[in-house]
Amino acid sequence: MPELPEVETVRRGLLPAMEGVVLKRTEVNRPDLRWPFPDRMVERLSEVRVERLRRRSKYLLLDLSSGETLIVHLGMSGRMTVSGDPLGQFLHDHPMPEKHDHVVFHMGNGARVTFNDPRRFGAMDLIPTDRADQHKLLAVLGPEPLGNRFDEPHLIAALKARNTPVKSALLDQGIVAGLGNIYVCETLYRAGISPRRKAGRISAARVAAMVPIIRSVLFEAIEAGGSSLRDFRQADGELGYFQHRFDVYDREGQPCRTPDCPGVIARIVQSGRSSFYCPSCQR
Ligand SMILES: [Zn+2]
Repeated sequence: MPELPEVETVRRGLLPAMEGVVLKRTEVNRPDLRWPFPDRMVERLSEVRVERLRRRSKYLLLDLSSGETLIVHLGMSGRMTVSGDPLGQFLHDHPMPEKHDHVVFHMGNGARVTFNDPRRFGAMDLIPTDRADQHKLLAVLGPEPLGNRFDEPHLIAALKARNTPVKSALLDQGIVAGLGNIYVCETLYRAGISPRRKAGRISAARVAAMVPIIRSVLFEAIEAGGSSLRDFRQADGELGYFQHRFDVYDREGQPCRTPDCPGVIARIVQSGRSSFYCPSCQR
């Protein structure tokens, strides 16, 4: 499942193909993804300029010259592929259409952006740009972890009231938007906090220390994504999936990387998801 850094990487990869460019025509090959597509989607996504390509949490937001915003969620298996960009940013020829190419954006600069999603947990919707924040998918979101509204007092206040494990609290999209399983595991490792610890029982100082850790964990992953973008242009044109080295995630049974820590990374299941942590240095 793409997390925030992957979605940000997709956004950056799409910028040269889409931002400031007229969307000439949209090809929609089925009636729905996770939910039905909006009414008259083909019509509303033809001959409109993409004024801005933004991200909110794990959603891509395309602000259009028509005054509407296209909200795109990649879901579990959604992929964006860019081909045929005449500016030379992308070297790929247009590929043969594939079975799960559900939506294809034909751009005025010759680029073609294909949304492929075999499992169809992705979603697209259109909403007036001035009400985009009130869309049901976005209205429930807390502050962006890399934005100014996410700060120490916010996180201290949000966790203080929680009797749940800190792992679940950090996954709550109303507390901080877009933080997923992988980056919560990495954050708690760097903070030295056990994922089982009750959120409300952690000292304010330790909670405050998590704020810059969350930012750096995400920034480093976005950096890794940026490097993958430079490589991907020579590969198959698919955006957003990249190799990244994790300290605890998916490292069950391997030695802890904290200097002088004798611990071995453990895996437990919390709310149906795997938590990876070092029982020795995460308390
Ligand atoms: Zn350790």
